[in-house]
Amino acid sequence: MIDPQPYQPMLCPVCGQFEFTPLEATDLLFRECLQCSVCGWKYDHNQIRDPDLKPGQNTLSLNEYKAWFQAQRLKDPDYNFLEATYEATPHLCPVCQQYTFADENSFDICPQCGWCDDALMAKEPDQWAGNANDLCLNDYKARYERRANDARNSYRPLEVGRRECCFSKQETQKMKGLEQ
Ligand SMILES: [Zn+2]
Ligand SMILES: [Zn+2]
Repeated sequence: MIDPQPYQPMLCPVCGQFEFTPLEATDLLFRECLQCSVCGWKYDHNQIRDPDLKPGQNTLSLNEYKAWFQAQRLKDPDYNFLEATYEATPHLCPVCQQYTFADENSFDICPQCGWCDDALMAKEPDQWAGNANDLCLNDYKARYERRANDARNSYRPLEVGRRECCFSKQETQKMKGLEQ
């Protein structure tokens, strides 16, 4: 949990390129800590007050973190914590389970069932019809299964030896007459 008491909006003391903005109610409810997306430093009031204090939210002290971040930037001038630590999360299509989307919330289209990968629609399967997909996930699934069933039921193996004659009745009678 974030402790709102000593929190002060400020630029990140490590990289100076990220702004810790005023806290919102959702931050307090859903986030364990506030983290700079440029250098990865986690906001810790005590570590700001004492830059040699460790561990806190960060295992390294503020001074050590600064040195670490500078070393990353020396190796790669464009180093960005979020990009460097990002991991894609492949996941199965929630409708047909037959296709793997490469990443969470990719907005790719499943080639099997046409579902557009939308994390919010997958999380709240009874809502959000008419956005990335025309139906909500549960309805989309039901429609997909119905169509897959229909396709299975209308399939008939070829019946060998029962071909329709391509001549009309009159023509076949004429031919029979000629044979006699
Ligand atoms: Zn930072
Ligand atoms: Zn699918």
